[in-house]
Amino acid sequence: MEFLMPHFPPAQEESLISWLNRFGQFHCGLSLNAFLHFVGIPLQELHMGRQEVFSRASAISGQSVENLKTRSHEYLSDRRFAYRGETFFREFLLRSSVTFCPACLLSDYNESGTGAPKFIGRTEWVFRSVRTCEHHATALCRTAQVRGSELALNISAHAPDQERLEKLLKQAPLCKPSALQNYIIARFEGHKGPCWLDDQQIDLASRATEMLGACVEYGAQVPLTKLTEAEWDSAGQVGFEFTSKGEEGIREGLELLFKRPHKNAGQRGPQGVFGKLFQWVQFRNNDKPVGPIREILREFILDSFPIAAGTDLFGEIIPWRKKHSVASLSAHTGVHAKTVANALAQSGMLPKDLYVVNIRQTVPAGPAEELIEKLKRAVPVAKIPEYIGCTRSQASLLIENGILHTVIQDTGNRTARYKGVDLVDLHQLISRMRHFGKPVQVMSQGEV
Ligand SMILES: [Zn+2]
Repeated sequence: MEFLMPHFPPAQEESLISWLNRFGQFHCGLSLNAFLHFVGIPLQELHMGRQEVFSRASAISGQSVENLKTRSHEYLSDRRFAYRGETFFREFLLRSSVTFCPACLLSDYNESGTGAPKFIGRTEWVFRSVRTCEHHATALCRTAQVRGSELALNISAHAPDQERLEKLLKQAPLCKPSALQNYIIARFEGHKGPCWLDDQQIDLASRATEMLGACVEYGAQVPLTKLTEAEWDSAGQVGFEFTSKGEEGIREGLELLFKRPHKNAGQRGPQGVFGKLFQWVQFRNNDKPVGPIREILREFILDSFPIAAGTDLFGEIIPWRKKHSVASLSAHTGVHAKTVANALAQSGMLPKDLYVVNIRQTVPAGPAEELIEKLKRAVPVAKIPEYIGCTRSQASLLIENGILHTVIQDTGNRTARYKGVDLVDLHQLISRMRHFGKPVQVMSQGEV
């Protein structure tokens, strides 16, 4: 095979696009677009990272395909790409934004000597969650989408002049890479990290971390589109504190959001409490998965809010209700909220002191519904003789001896309803007595 000689290897960390640009300049004095045309690599194919590009670039340069693949995203399908063994959705790549570290470019500039500047685009600048240069502890500069005939990732075509770079460097905030960025880079390098993150696609792990972090750091109703790159970076840092601890850590983060006070009654539902995090999972305009954070958030919501059976939560109908609030139980059973609250407090499902009952407090739906249904069927103690055919003193004895129980074990001076006995219990008592009893012609002595 004939290569263009002499060998012109990519610089350390240099992206395929950056290197091809310098390669064309070095060997043919051509711009990237002209060189690609000359060697028969369609620009769009390079932008996409198609397989043919790697083999063609390898054939003309003598660099191995494996080496070139560590310098570019690879096309898998219209939605999925790969890089160093990780696959992800295309949104994880910012192929149409110009991203650079002003300090890195200034150093390229200074090393170019008297000739034309030879800028080197670093491979990992293209990833959405990479926002800091680890060599210079400097925030990367990132533009919005650029259009035109030049690839945004061809940094030489877009690099500012020296004076502007110096100005940008002065303005760039000094910062360390976020914990999320460190995780992403380490994962690309093949290192193992927290399992909950490792067990999902890298872009989903990253997005879940940033979304949770943004809501914790800037409030659940944070206007996401207005967050700056620096704020997203902090979101990644904060979110990682939770997601790196897996399910337990994420529940901790959700608990933090849940416990924040909400003055507005309309904001006490899951959408109000989890804000953008909830909306991100609930309102999907594509079938791209959210990842395992969805299940954790769903469980948390079902455990903490009175969500009715039949509700559509994250695209799934809730088959049965897990929790009731006083209000939902009252609506469900048709019993006045105060009565419901009293009954729950007396039975120990809610704190005894009703004044401290938190409006958002919930109780397990099954036992709570059962309790209120019993209450609805309760026969006041005074009416028991009439129901089962006994005397008042016999009725009292049945209760005192624990053969019958009042619906709510109550020592306070409550209304007759609370002191009633479930009608079902009365029926059971009678059927038990009939089962064990024997019909007699004549009453034996001492019997009534
Ligand atoms: Zn740098």
